[in-house]
Amino acid sequence: MTRNRVQPRHALDYTPAAPPRRLGRIVVGLAATAVGLSGVAVASASTTTASASLGVSSSTATASATRSADTTSRSEQREPLTPAASASPSASATASDADAEAATDAASAADAGATAEAIETTEVSSISDVAALKAAEEAAAAKAAAEKLAAEKKAAAEKKAAEEKKAAEEKAAAKKKAAAKKAAAEKAAEEAASRVSLPVNSGSYRISATFGQTGSWSSYHTGLDFAAGVGTEIDAIVSGTVVSDTAGSWSGTHVVIQAADGSYTLYCHMSSKNVEVGDTVTAGDKIGEVGETGRAFGAHLHLEYYTADQTPGDIYNASDPGKYLAGLGLDY
Ligand SMILES: [Zn+2]
Repeated sequence: MTRNRVQPRHALDYTPAAPPRRLGRIVVGLAATAVGLSGVAVASASTTTASASLGVSSSTATASATRSADTTSRSEQREPLTPAASASPSASATASDADAEAATDAASAADAGATAEAIETTEVSSISDVAALKAAEEAAAAKAAAEKLAAEKKAAAEKKAAEEKKAAEEKAAAKKKAAAKKAAAEKAAEEAASRVSLPVNSGSYRISATFGQTGSWSSYHTGLDFAAGVGTEIDAIVSGTVVSDTAGSWSGTHVVIQAADGSYTLYCHMSSKNVEVGDTVTAGDKIGEVGETGRAFGAHLHLEYYTADQTPGDIYNASDPGKYLAGLGLDY
């Protein structure tokens, strides 16, 4: 202490008296203020660069602390030397250390503040990021759901369209098939209606008597005779319906068929018949077999023909069956 009192004036030029302890506190206070200011600066700093904010706040705090120290030194120089102010070099050193520590503390505090701010900023940023991420995920989920729904809707629509198309095609096919079937049936009916057949197959008979022929057995032959063996098949000449028997006993076992045009064909002297009144027959169908029942001499088919306005079996009103067959295009 004594040495400080006698210290030469010039010594102050390069050895400034150490600031008293209270000055150190002032420095600390100023540094703290600087920290506060730097903290504010950090608080208003960009939230996107936490590390940068940290760096800036540290340097700001250090600079502030340094300026505070300088100010303190200048204030000290202006103050008159007092015993209290004349601190020992060790005290000065201590004060300097205190300043340094204060500055370091300020910087550390600033760092801590900045770090806290950075963490907070990061947290805020993270919360914002989480919210944004969640929103994005929800949006993506909603989009995916919408796309899935749209895809399902589209698939359902396509399936329905395909089913409708298939149904329409099946319906069209069924309609076409029905039309074809109907056409075939109509054609078959038409062919059946137009079809004709000799009553006895060619090569199985010989004509033994014709219409109008006269002979010992009759003054006037009213039919056309197909001489053939007993049991030879007799077929319907045209399609028609088997109608009631109106011929006499002379005809033996016989069948009367009325055609669509109303005319009649009468088949006589049959050994047997296999149709009954009311049956529908088609040209060529077997109706019975050749015989010699009734008034007949030898086995043969006696065929008669009657127009629509005549009664089958009324022999005096019979027409020429040969002309009828010729008219049908049958060469007997
Ligand atoms: Zn005859």
